[in-house]
Amino acid sequence: MYKKNAWEQYDEAELAKVEAFAAKYKAYLDAGKTERECVTEAVKLAEAAGFIDLDKVIREGGKLEAGARVYRNWMGKDIMLFIVGSKPMQEGMNILGAHIDSPRIDVKQNPLYEDEGIAYLDTHYYGGIKKYQWVTIPLAMHGVICKKDGSTVTIAIGEDENDPVFYISDLLIHLAADQMSATAAKVIEGEALNLIIGSQPLKGEEKEAVKANVLKLLKDKYDVEEEDFISAELEIVPAGKSRDVGFDRALIAGYGHDDRVCAYPSMAAVLDFEGTPEYTLCAVLTDKEEIGSVGATGMSAKYFENTVAELYNSVHGYCALGVTRTLQNSRMLSSDVSAGYDPNFAGVFEKKNAAIVGKGVCFNKFTGSRGKSGSNDANPEYIAQIRAILDEANVDWQTAELGKVDVGGGGTIAYICANYGMNCIDCGIAVLSMHAPWEMISKADLYEGYKCYCAFLKGAKAF
Ligand code: MN
Ligand code: MN
Repeated sequence: MYKKNAWEQYDEAELAKVEAFAAKYKAYLDAGKTERECVTEAVKLAEAAGFIDLDKVIREGGKLEAGARVYRNWMGKDIMLFIVGSKPMQEGMNILGAHIDSPRIDVKQNPLYEDEGIAYLDTHYYGGIKKYQWVTIPLAMHGVICKKDGSTVTIAIGEDENDPVFYISDLLIHLAADQMSATAAKVIEGEALNLIIGSQPLKGEEKEAVKANVLKLLKDKYDVEEEDFISAELEIVPAGKSRDVGFDRALIAGYGHDDRVCAYPSMAAVLDFEGTPEYTLCAVLTDKEEIGSVGATGMSAKYFENTVAELYNSVHGYCALGVTRTLQNSRMLSSDVSAGYDPNFAGVFEKKNAAIVGKGVCFNKFTGSRGKSGSNDANPEYIAQIRAILDEANVDWQTAELGKVDVGGGGTIAYICANYGMNCIDCGIAVLSMHAPWEMISKADLYEGYKCYCAFLKGAKAF
């Protein structure tokens, strides 16, 4: 149903399903605070759902038949799930895509210092953040430290209630006259995002005794040295679990809804698919969207195309033209969060074309900024097919743009996948306070997103 409030159509049985799906999503969100953790969780869920590792199939030179369920873990930061269809792959796949990296604060390569009895880690933020939102809140540290001997230490500190947390200080209001008159971009500057990690000196140590104590603790607990920060990837994120919001518990506040609120239901729709589909089904959860889909794990890398080629080889035997046709003839929902209409900031939205929280999954014909620059502009022929699928499956959905014309804008992975010539449209779930430490979404929108993805996997067809 187009532009209806989703909550109004639920009976008791459906409400129970909305709540049950939200509970599974929150568990995923709490377990996956980084792209790596999201992939680790996804592998567990995939294996529990009978998916096998495509790399194992490749190593053994195995063959896959219609109905085969496989996943591929790429560098521990991307995951792709496939169910092989009964039609030849050349007729295109039904693909769900979303990203699992989220805005955060990364630790620098040479981070550790001491200043007047406090030990800090120097940081460089990742993605677009309002830096002033990340001070004076409990922060957790997640990531890996890779050592020269080839071993990797996995870090997750600050989530258990008995764990310590980390903290970035702000200036007290009493002395903040100058700061309060600065523009919001300057209130907290990037180089002021210094993470407090200790303040107790090592007994008997004369120089930089607090830093020495921290290094001793790191050595004792994790067997790492100061130089090991050089080959670490440590991500600082808000500490704690996602929480229901409101007397009615209809919303969820959580870290990293952008874009795990699309990634989780995309993955779940493939995991929950029963039997053999007509077309090959795929969910791709990717890294590095927030900084431009760069690097070996970003959507601009060839890992997805290469994996489709491997899958094609395992199903049909390798054929370069077959892989080209598979990608070109595919249909994709490229999901990323939409800016939810916020009555507190009504001025930046154009209400007829804004995503309203509670009105279901949101479709964006285009994104981008300043005359649709940088966007994927979906074909209306394809949009018409999707409208039919959504209405047939009784999905609540809406359409939106990211704010008023020329107010701002943003990009997604859609244009990258569209480079293959496949039909691709941006869609996703409305978020309030996008890129804040705690973002907010509606449980109804999450559930309608899941229904949408399930209907798309079953219903999308080659033109
Ligand atoms: Mn984002
Ligand atoms: Mn996003």
